[in-house]
Formats: sequence, C-alpha cells, structure tokens
Amino acid sequence: MRQIWFTRGYLARLSQIPTWQACARSAHSVFCAAALVAVAGVVVGAGRTSANTQMTAAAFQAWVQDFRRDALTKGISPQTFDAAFAKVKAPAKSVVKSVSTQPEVVRTSGDYVSSLVSDGRVQLGREKLEGHRALLSSVESAFGVDARVVVALWGVETYYGRLSGKHSIIQSLATLAATHRRRAKYWRAELLAALKIIEGRHVTAENFKGSWAGAMGHIQFMPTTYHSHAVDFDRDGRRDIWDSKADALASASKFLKAKGWVPGEPWGFEVRLPENFDFDRAGPDVKLPLITWQKKAVVPAKGIGWPEVNGRLRLLLPEGASGPAFLVTQNFSVLMRYNPSTRYALAVAHLSDRIAGAPDFAQAWPSAKNALRRGERKELQRLLSAKGHNIGPVDGIIGATTREAIRAFQKVSGLPADGHPSQQLLSRLRTASNN
Ligand code: CA
Repeated sequence: MRQIWFTRGYLARLSQIPTWQACARSAHSVFCAAALVAVAGVVVGAGRTSANTQMTAAAFQAWVQDFRRDALTKGISPQTFDAAFAKVKAPAKSVVKSVSTQPEVVRTSGDYVSSLVSDGRVQLGREKLEGHRALLSSVESAFGVDARVVVALWGVETYYGRLSGKHSIIQSLATLAATHRRRAKYWRAELLAALKIIEGRHVTAENFKGSWAGAMGHIQFMPTTYHSHAVDFDRDGRRDIWDSKADALASASKFLKAKGWVPGEPWGFEVRLPENFDFDRAGPDVKLPLITWQKKAVVPAKGIGWPEVNGRLRLLLPEGASGPAFLVTQNFSVLMRYNPSTRYALAVAHLSDRIAGAPDFAQAWPSAKNALRRGERKELQRLLSAKGHNIGPVDGIIGATTREAIRAFQKVSGLPADGHPSQQLLSRLRTASNN
C-alpha cells in the first residue's frame, strides 16, 4: 500500500470516518480502507468533491480508449486489454453511488469490534485453524506470523473467504479512475496493476472479482499490493489469492512480515490502570518497556499474569479513559499497516485471542450515546479553537492535532488527559465557554 497522501493526521482521521461498512460487501478490507481514504475527500470535503457522477457512456468510452493507448505502452497486450474491457461499457452506477453516498453512522470501537468478533466468527475461526492446521503451520514457519492472527485477519477481511466481493475489478477500478478525478492517478495505477494480473494469467477475466473499491480475494489485496506481496505458496505457477487459500494466507503473512511483524511477540493485551493514573505521561507516542508499566501499577486486566513481551509497549485507549485500556506492541502497529484504523487492528487482535480460547474484554465499553456526531465534533473543534487551541481546520475529523488540543484542555481543567472526544467533554467545553 503506497498511498502517498497517508499523512499521520490522515491516518488518525480515518478511524473517525464512520463509514467502513459502506465499503461494499468486503466492508472491512484493509485495502478497501485505502480506497476509503481516497474517497474521504468526497465524504468530508463536500463542496470540493471530485467525483464526476454524471459521466456519460460515450465520455467513458473515450476515456477507455485513452487509457488503452497508455496501457499498451506499459506492457499490456491488446488481447488482454480488449478481453478485460469486453463488458465494461459505462461507469458502474453502484460504484459511483458507493463513493458518493456515505451515511453517517456513529459507532464506538466497542460496537465495531463486537460486530466483527461475533460468536459465529470465533467458532468458524477455530474450525479454520483446526481444519487447515498443516497449511497454517507451514505458512507460519515461512513468514513467522502467528497462525491465529492470520486466521483472524482472514475472518475480519472476508469472513474466511465467504464475503470477498462480487464486483468486477476492472469495471470498478475503471469507474473510479474515470470518474473520481482527485484520486484519478491512484485508481489508474491500480487499474493498470489489475490488467497486469490478467496478463500474467494468475486469474481469468471472468473470475476477477472483489469489492467495489478494487480489493481482491480472501485477503482483499489491492492490485498494486498484490504485485508487491502476493506469493505462489502452493507452487502451481499462479499467485491465486481468489481460489487458493495457501496463496492467500501466505500472501497476507508475507505482507505482515514485510511491515515488521516480530515473530513470537504478542500484539498486546488488555490492562487495568490504577486510580489517579497519569494519562498525561502516557500519550500515544510514549513507548515503554514492560517493567516501566509495571512500576506505574498497570496490571493485566484478565488476571492471567503478564505475557512474555520483549519490545516496548504503548498505551491504547480506543474510547478514552472510561473504556478498556491496552498495552500494545509493534505487532499491533503492523496490523494497522494492513488497515490504518485502531479499531480494525483491535478487531483482528481480539478475534485472534478469542479463536485461541481467551475470554471477552474484561472492561466494559462506553455507550454509543457518549460518542459525538459530526456536527458535535465540529462544535467541539470550534470551542477549542475559541479557547486558543490549535485544532487545524474545523472539519469534524478528530485527528492528532485535535486530540492534542483536547489533552491540553483536559489538563488545565483537571480532567484525565486521554485526548478523547465525548459528550461529557463537549458539555464541559460549552460550560467553560459560557463563563
Ligand atoms: Ca498458486
């Protein structure tokens, strides 16, 4: 995944865009996330949308002919191109609609994780772990990534291959490349990469299916990611992430290894914080050895003793000080390379634990009533800005800058400085602003 617009602030914003489920059937695809970042400009920047939702079939055909000339100079044969585009005559309405309509749904991390880590998904994950034991063991030996994590990722991405998407990849990517002008370069590169997959005879044009945003197969790789990380693990000459579980699971593992997965290290674990914990000295950039957290009187939440951890850990508070707390390792950050969302990584991590037989979270998640809607997030930003805090643009997106401003306000107000937006915080700001 090489989206050059993935700035730190943008990544922080992404977890606040409550529209993951809009990403077609493969709602939780990683690389679908990349696509959502790409469309976020449309979602968030109403008034500066770049999607051409009215493109005619004739204009689209002209675009295809222009793209064909380009593709042929880049190694795609006329036969491959023409076969791939044989049924692609106009922009796909469903794709244009998916990009353009992003309903606001307020979901907390707890809601998000629970919806993905259902009893059914846990049970089927255990069956997959058992049923594919030999394959998973050899994949784990080859890449060093915990088999339970690989199975969990597979489960979160596509419900173990059941929901990998039925959209034509060429139709979807051509629609996005032709109509979504502001990200046209990105979609064009993905479309070209998709054609190269067909050119390499890894998949037939008819079977070349995925999400509306171009995420493909069991593990929802985008085409460019496919070229960098897909492997032919069953050695039949094709890198087939659509029909070969061996290729798909090995490819996901190879990706995680390439992003820095540390073999043998856990993703992290749930912890309990002591009364009067100093949140100000445990911000998102603070990484400490286990022993230092122990000295701060942090304890494992589930009362099962400390896991073995070698690397440094950071404190993760997905819903602020009033929700579950976690200490996470580098491997958690590696999961976020698959999809740059804290709640996504937590869903994969938690599912992997549950598949391994661990209990549910020990601490309760705050209610969704506590979450802020977009208008309220903007109000929060305006109030912070009026108090002299730098929050960047008032866009309703709680990124790193807004979180820092929240922490600063919490500190001077004597509140736990967790940087988390909530109804209580908004009320407090309103009161403070009226005085
Ligand atoms: Ca293969």
